[in-house]
Amino acid sequence: MTYFPTNPRNRMKIVISSLGPRNTVSLRARLTEPRRGLAPLIEITCSRVFNNFYNELGRHCQGVSAPSLRVADWRKNDMRRNKRLDDGMKRRDFLTGSTLVVTGTLLGSAGPTLAQQDPASAGPADARLIEDLIAANRILAREGVVDAFGHVSVRHDRDPNRYLLSRSLAPALVTPDDVIEYDLDSNPVNANNRPQYSERFIHGEIYKARPEVKAVVHNHSPSVILFGVSTVPLRPVFHIAAFIGKGLPIFDIRKAAGMTDMLVSNPDRGRALTQILASNVAVLMRGHGAAVVGASLPLAVGRSVYLEQNARIQAQAIGLGGGVTYLDPEEARKVMEAGENRSYERAWELWKLRALEK
Ligand SMILES: [Zn+2]
Repeated sequence: MTYFPTNPRNRMKIVISSLGPRNTVSLRARLTEPRRGLAPLIEITCSRVFNNFYNELGRHCQGVSAPSLRVADWRKNDMRRNKRLDDGMKRRDFLTGSTLVVTGTLLGSAGPTLAQQDPASAGPADARLIEDLIAANRILAREGVVDAFGHVSVRHDRDPNRYLLSRSLAPALVTPDDVIEYDLDSNPVNANNRPQYSERFIHGEIYKARPEVKAVVHNHSPSVILFGVSTVPLRPVFHIAAFIGKGLPIFDIRKAAGMTDMLVSNPDRGRALTQILASNVAVLMRGHGAAVVGASLPLAVGRSVYLEQNARIQAQAIGLGGGVTYLDPEEARKVMEAGENRSYERAWELWKLRALEK
């Protein structure tokens, strides 16, 4: 998302789009500059206590662009409007289709013009890349890594600042027509009102922070969840899972964002996750699942499949009751140096054939 606001009379239009469960409200906001059109929408979920909205908005905007919102000023200037809105939120009928325009002061250096509503497309991606992305979706479903939930993306082959991800859909059902192009702030280029995965920020923020990453899988694979909630660390029990190395970090969303709905559904949470991922191949997500990355779709998918297998085998080995001998970090390193399972090429050939057969 790009903002170029310099005019203090720029306005932010806030559209109340839905009332969430328990005390949350989903708001859509956009900066408007009457002569130059609209900036991209930003979507924020926050407490209906309005101050929280401002905090959330301030954090969001500071994180994604240089100009920041002078939140305190807004709060002061628009207190009366806020009060009305806050009162309105207590009456559900107020929410239907209602809008509110808030005048705010925006800080920042001079910029060209407001961005267009959608970011520009990088153009059509290579057909083989799309085919691999469809295959990746289906492989992950077939191998039990994703079910109705979970998703996989790939970086655009023409522009490293774009990535491709299905519309919100069970991975087994994804077709080329379902693929949406995103910028790295996870703004859609061509969503055309199609529903989007709320956790797409996992993908965008990882691509932003890790230029060598070309594919990202987010899943809730069951055995991996075990090791995100237990004090027993995940360790590699067999050679194919050597990428686990000395172990993987665990992202606890509570530490990053307090009490949440557990979803990485905004840029802040995506960035917090990415920081814990650091330079690792995967990060476990406490009470949720995992995010797995790779320099190609076969690597990200292969690691996701064998991460699940390793977690299952490790739990079973521990269940036997005796001691468990894990790969030594030195052994794990040597497997990786030897080419990490030949980049899963043999597995990919088999999986893709099976996944795409009618
Ligand atoms: Zn998830």
